[in-house]
Amino acid sequence: MEDQNFTRIKEVKKLLSSNSFELNNFEYKSKPVRFSKSIFEKKILISLKLNKQKEIEQKYLHKEELRKLLFSISEVKELPAAILNLPPLSSFESCHVLVHEKGKPVGQNYLALHGENEETKLIAVQNFNTLFNLVKKSKNKIFNQSLSMKDDLSVVGNFLAREIDLKNYSVIYLVSRNSFLPPSIEEQEEFQGLSLFLHPLLVKILDKEKNDLKKEVLRKSLENFPEKINVKKNGLSIFTNKSDETAFENSNLMIFPLETEDQVTMELSNFSKDQISTELYHSQRVSLLGELLNTLQHELSNPLFGLNLTSSILESETTNPETESILNEISQNANRSQTIIKNFSNLYNDQQEFKIINLYRFIDEVMTLTKSETREIAKSIECIGFDPGSPDGDLEITTNPTCLTQIIFNLTINAAQAIKENQSGDFRKNHIVIRLARLDDEVEISVIDDGPGVKNDNIQAIFQPFFTTKDSGTGLGLSICQNLAHQLGSKIEFKNNSPLNGATFSITLPV
Ligand code: ADP
Repeated sequence: MEDQNFTRIKEVKKLLSSNSFELNNFEYKSKPVRFSKSIFEKKILISLKLNKQKEIEQKYLHKEELRKLLFSISEVKELPAAILNLPPLSSFESCHVLVHEKGKPVGQNYLALHGENEETKLIAVQNFNTLFNLVKKSKNKIFNQSLSMKDDLSVVGNFLAREIDLKNYSVIYLVSRNSFLPPSIEEQEEFQGLSLFLHPLLVKILDKEKNDLKKEVLRKSLENFPEKINVKKNGLSIFTNKSDETAFENSNLMIFPLETEDQVTMELSNFSKDQISTELYHSQRVSLLGELLNTLQHELSNPLFGLNLTSSILESETTNPETESILNEISQNANRSQTIIKNFSNLYNDQQEFKIINLYRFIDEVMTLTKSETREIAKSIECIGFDPGSPDGDLEITTNPTCLTQIIFNLTINAAQAIKENQSGDFRKNHIVIRLARLDDEVEISVIDDGPGVKNDNIQAIFQPFFTTKDSGTGLGLSICQNLAHQLGSKIEFKNNSPLNGATFSITLPV
């Protein structure tokens, strides 16, 4: 027994002073992690010094259970429920884990209620930082709902919260019973002590999640690349995309994590440097735009909401008709600005996700995006088989909005370029029509122009990568669109208009 106790104390010491945790089937080693010593940890150290083996043994046995449970988690979203399922915290009803990657405009807010994980929400960085600083400054880590964070935190009454500061992330975890019953001393200690286990766990899973995400984004973009690519790490081939028939179809993209001495090279065939940089530049701009829109939405939503509310209140109080109409205009414009920002950022949100969209409104927004390149050319949206103006005539489809935006955007720009190529100056007689034709369970979206159309000799070639008739064209637009259409489970069809001039590109999607 003496021996066993001695071993356990050694283990606890190791746990507190090192960064290496070894469980039966698990081994985790990270770069040195500094633990700030909480009251609880200090208590263990003092206990160690006083050699209270019994007490330590009990606590340690208990902690071992916790560690096992926590280390069985592989994603942050599983964490809140796992915390609530820990026996010493089981009387709490809700648990939030808020994670902010340093430098990003938003954080993630993971929630579990009654032991079950709920939907993850976003939290604006200002709100996250306010809470983080508050929690950091607090000694006893007990708070109550008077905190003005009702939108972000689903808690009532008292709650316990603690911050964890990692190299790349800031994390807050908090539990609430949704009552005003104060947490017991034991619960407070257990809650504080949890940070000791959460710290290395979070380092592990957050880094893994980031790497997985990077890998996924990289894999998707490489897989859909219309040309042959071979990626090598330190001279060894680690990825080849599908267009290379002779190579193995390796999906194990082991690029990340990258050590400083690692060398990754990418071999491309048939590309000129200019073509690559134009496309890369375009995709970088699109993703930057997405991030910018998200930031803008968070920065502008609150002031616009305030403006809208205040002008509505003032409007209801004033008796002067002129002031009333000005205030009405202010509130309407604030409302409109809120809607515009929301709709735009919806276009770029969740790149991988399929969503339900209102087709007419969606196309209308994409048309706004093409405005600068289609100036002077009339554009209209024609609806067949449904009427977006009537109360129940709207058409909703489930699709990936990011892919569809790119497709319609590219086709419209091509149409405008074809019109402009053929004429010099006056495009007032020209027209681009986006026709949305519903038939049973499908809708055909066509981009129709009255430009010169495609010459018969070129029809076979237009979807091939690098085929272009434009001086500054890359010839990649249509082949990328075709790839994106495949991702939506469809394909793009082309025909020259007859008897009228011009070209029609269409894609059919399920309703
Ligand atoms: P790029 O626009 O860089 O040339 P694309 O792949 O988008 O590359 O288009 C390939 C070619 O298809 C164009 O160069 C053009 O000749 C032809 N094309 C595409 N859209 C139209 C259109 N609406 N009308 C006439 N020709 C078109």
